[in-house]
Amino acid sequence: MKLNPNYSSLKSSYLFIDIAHRVAAYKEKNPAADIIRLGIGDVTLPLAQPVVKALQEASAEMGEAETFHGYGPEQGYPFLRQGIAGYYAARGITLAQEEIFVSDGAKSDIGNILELFSPDNTVLIPDPVYPAYVDANLMDGRKIIYAPATKQNGFLPLPDNSVKADIIYICSPNNPTGAAYTKAQLAQWVNCATKNEAVILFDAAYECFVSSPDVPRSIYEVEGAKECAVEICSLSKTAGFTGTRCGYTIVPNTLFANGQSLNKMWNRRQTTKYNETPYIVQRAAAAVFTPEGLAACHKNIEYYKNNAGVIGKVLDQASVWYSGGINSPYIWMECPNGMDSWQFFDLLLEKANIVGTPGAGFGNNGNGYFRLTGFGNAEKTVEAAARLKAFLSTL
Ligand code: PLP
Repeated sequence: MKLNPNYSSLKSSYLFIDIAHRVAAYKEKNPAADIIRLGIGDVTLPLAQPVVKALQEASAEMGEAETFHGYGPEQGYPFLRQGIAGYYAARGITLAQEEIFVSDGAKSDIGNILELFSPDNTVLIPDPVYPAYVDANLMDGRKIIYAPATKQNGFLPLPDNSVKADIIYICSPNNPTGAAYTKAQLAQWVNCATKNEAVILFDAAYECFVSSPDVPRSIYEVEGAKECAVEICSLSKTAGFTGTRCGYTIVPNTLFANGQSLNKMWNRRQTTKYNETPYIVQRAAAAVFTPEGLAACHKNIEYYKNNAGVIGKVLDQASVWYSGGINSPYIWMECPNGMDSWQFFDLLLEKANIVGTPGAGFGNNGNGYFRLTGFGNAEKTVEAAARLKAFLSTL
């Protein structure tokens, strides 16, 4: 028996454990401290009513012989695939049902899709970014190169002609930086992938937060993307499904590599290794794409965006540089006075009793930056913003 040797190249991920330890140590010394958490990347509002209703009705169906559902199609039920196709059609993107694969969330597909590609490929990953891309590729032993995201490029790296990669990850709007590519910028990536016969893996997990008209919510808004890009999306942030679990991956029929259809390969992979998202969850997900579902989810998204706006306003007033907030629930701020991410974390905890996430946890270029999120309670966010303002004025 031989283990996968690539696991030994994974770095231990202590980010959230370190945060928890530091907060616990502070709490022990200061038991009365009223700590506000603006570090969370999880949603906090409950599921929308149309979604809850669909869950209840589907659960009742499962308890009756006439309406019980056993195994369903591995790719997802037609009612949900149609709902997703309609969601895209409303934005002018035409998808065939067989191009849409329902899953239990984006994280699984981000890792699983790599099975279609040889470990010999070189992967280009933005730095900083959602850490799962790096780890999933390290596990396969793939060579990783990084696209540096910095304050100078607005945390939106563009193709570098001197760098050749076979697989390109794009996360827009980005976690943690909140930065989102314009259509013209995304077109540069599509051109680069087309020229180099590379595949783009586009993570659209935060598409629902986009409000700028020039920022695409799907890579398929860019001409040529259906020939070079897979899009992975999730209902986690769109509809609060972080604990309910549902996502989807789009593999266009026109996407070929080395003469092979990636759609057919992914279909083969899913039918072999995935036995569909639970029926009741798919019914709940389908309710998201109804007019009532979309309206209710939109309200929650606005709530989170408003929170991010409250934090952003304080930073504007204090002239602190940040990205995000407009098309994202995340605010990615530069730590004041050249502090590193963890110095700022400790100081903010001690002086303002606010917990955020040190940017260093998302990649080397994250050091010196700090992520605050709009996923908290609105009143608490207002209180935190007031504390942040007072704290920044002392620096
Ligand atoms: N992609 C990004 C960029 C994320 O930030 C997250 C979760 O925070 C995910 C994917 C995971 O989504 P899911 O809950 O669908 O697995």
